[in-house]
Amino acid sequence: MIPEILHSEVLQTLKSEIGNQVKIISVSPVSGGDINQAFKIQTQKDAFFLKYNFANRFPGMFQTEHLGLDLLAGSKTLRIPKVISNGEADKYSWLLLEFIEQGAVTHKFWEDFGTMLADLHQNTNDLFGLDHNNYIGSLHQSNRQHVNWFDFFIEERLQKQLKPTYDKGLADKKTITHFENLYKALPDIFPTENPSLLHGDLWSGNFLCDDKSRACLVDPAAYYGFREMDIAMSKLFGGFSSSFYETYNQTFPMAPGWQQRIDICNLYPLLVHVNLFGWSYVGSVKSIVGRY
Ligand code: ADP
Repeated sequence: MIPEILHSEVLQTLKSEIGNQVKIISVSPVSGGDINQAFKIQTQKDAFFLKYNFANRFPGMFQTEHLGLDLLAGSKTLRIPKVISNGEADKYSWLLLEFIEQGAVTHKFWEDFGTMLADLHQNTNDLFGLDHNNYIGSLHQSNRQHVNWFDFFIEERLQKQLKPTYDKGLADKKTITHFENLYKALPDIFPTENPSLLHGDLWSGNFLCDDKSRACLVDPAAYYGFREMDIAMSKLFGGFSSSFYETYNQTFPMAPGWQQRIDICNLYPLLVHVNLFGWSYVGSVKSIVGRY
């Protein structure tokens, strides 16, 4: 089911982390991810979650995911799976996590999720960005630090994704001009706020509801940024329950006009989607940026 070398690597890791008595009872595939191979590793007591890929495919992906999960866990807000370890074996790289058993999504789940995301976002930093780069999906994400959100958003988010879009012929000169006009408007569009610790890729595939109906975040693209980036991303493909946004706003109210900033924030994940999946997302980008 998984390569033999990974099986023995995981077993050795579990023995050193948990104890020599540990035995792997079963290994079963987990669906839902679109980048890596994912498996449930059942031992005689606990279960673990293994992701792996070819080590040369996305260098450093699991190291940075490990760092991101630890960073979010350090906030002691939302549940984050405990990282057991990550490493490389032969041609593979891997990440081993606590396995999250799933439960029922209730009304209270959404209320608590909104409150806890607001708590997460109150974790702050002097600068926007992070002390290391990571990945957004399977693409490199630059976190070079900036004093202002709008400089960070322009230089590390929009320009970094727009260049390959243009180079691949997926954006024309007119679209580039619209982006340049938008860049000039951004200092007046974004409110001045402290950097917030973000999940960074908060769509519905990246949270789980655990067996106590608590939200658990996985697969982060963490950095310190403008907190409406997480809120906007949550709305990109249909949105979360309305009670999530209500409790978020009760706990840590967003500046007036946040609904109007959603599209602007989502230019980043939309450009990422253009670079990953091509033409089907180009129209959405053009209709947002075409207003500038
Ligand atoms: P990928 O890196 O390929 O995008 P994900 O991290 O999104 O993979 O994981 C794939 C799927 O596995 C997720 O959609 C989620 O349902 C599930 N998953 C992720 N982490 C865990 C975990 N710690 N425990 C249980 N299931 C998990």
